[in-house]
Amino acid sequence: MTVELKFAEELVDFIDRSPSPFHAVENVKHELLKNGFVELNLKERWNVEKEGKYFSVKNDSALIAFVVGKGDIEEDGFKLIGAHTDSPTFRIKPNPEMVEEGTYLRLNTEVYGGPIINTWLDRPLSIAGRVAIKGKDPFNPEVKFINIDKPLMIIPNLAIHMNRKINEGVKLNTQKETLPLVGMINDEFEKKDFLIKLLAKELNVSHEDIVDFDLYLYEYEKGSIVGLNNEFISCGKQDDLAMAHAGIKALINGEVGNSTNVVVLFDNEEVGSTTKQGAASPMLRTVLERICIALGKGREDFYRSLYNSFLISADMAHAVHPNYAEKQDPTNRPVLNGGPCIKISANQSYTTDSLSLTVYESICKCAGVPVQKFLNRSDERGGSTIGPISSTQIDISSVDIGNPLLGMHSIRELGGVKDHYYIYKSFVEYFK
Ligand SMILES: [Zn+2]
Repeated sequence: MTVELKFAEELVDFIDRSPSPFHAVENVKHELLKNGFVELNLKERWNVEKEGKYFSVKNDSALIAFVVGKGDIEEDGFKLIGAHTDSPTFRIKPNPEMVEEGTYLRLNTEVYGGPIINTWLDRPLSIAGRVAIKGKDPFNPEVKFINIDKPLMIIPNLAIHMNRKINEGVKLNTQKETLPLVGMINDEFEKKDFLIKLLAKELNVSHEDIVDFDLYLYEYEKGSIVGLNNEFISCGKQDDLAMAHAGIKALINGEVGNSTNVVVLFDNEEVGSTTKQGAASPMLRTVLERICIALGKGREDFYRSLYNSFLISADMAHAVHPNYAEKQDPTNRPVLNGGPCIKISANQSYTTDSLSLTVYESICKCAGVPVQKFLNRSDERGGSTIGPISSTQIDISSVDIGNPLLGMHSIRELGGVKDHYYIYKSFVEYFK
């Protein structure tokens, strides 16, 4: 097996074990602990040392990991990689049980972010997330992560015989037509608190102690490598767990230079980032300042460190789609397995400028990694990412990059096997 294929399979395993942002952070945390990183509690006083390896977790769904450099932080600054842990999905509402025809049990959900909703139909789905359990102290509920690791439900399509126009395009109503079917019940008694009782059984707690939950649907089936020569990764949540995976691996395996290497994984990018664990929060700035303080530096040193820093905002990009080649910009045409894309936009929906582009392109050159450019068609708005939002909190030079993808926000996105290893190599080179 090639090193690229092995690394792509590691990504598919990582995503399979990360059905919610909480699980993604938990998996990253275990990987970091296994590799000698020390967890710092945000509520406690920090002690950090040069060449020390640390991380901190926010809201169980965001994480910042760093390796302190050998140099002086005010002179050598931070080398940052940013990515996000969340992906478009459906979130389960409180009191979700809904019975149809006195026997079909469905769960009430709402859309999280911007999924391609049609791709969620007719697939075995399950539930994962976080459950809040009554604690002894009202301010400190106990938290348990849960993954109902079985095909639990499905959103069935309507037969073509009942909608002859189905192949002309269907707009799905998200309160009515996308509710997952979870089982058949016989009476009201079974319906009452069905979900809470299921959670209680899985977690081995009393159902009266479960107060609330952050639960999301996910595709039960694991991703896979596909293509004649194993070229492609077919797997959901590559946006943006692929970048989180490559960034964390590079931080663990990379060398420590004079700069302090940082990987920040924000939550809530798909819903605008304006949460306490999102890129629009002061989370990153606060942590960077605390690193400086813990190293015995002052405020002036902290500000100097920022102006000596660089951020790679890593979020996936779009490859030319073979069936929709006209959808891409006419002169910048990234393809799968052609290497990472530098994302550029005149209206600065990406932070890249000619200088930061040159920095990343030079890093790729040193690493022997091909690089491509992604721009939206001039008559398409395109998406946004954490880079520009993070810039509202912290003014560090930055570049927006990401691997090319087909079908972004589909329940199964298609990425390139080689690209995943290319971007990892560029991150290792960057951290040197
Ligand atoms: Zn993304």
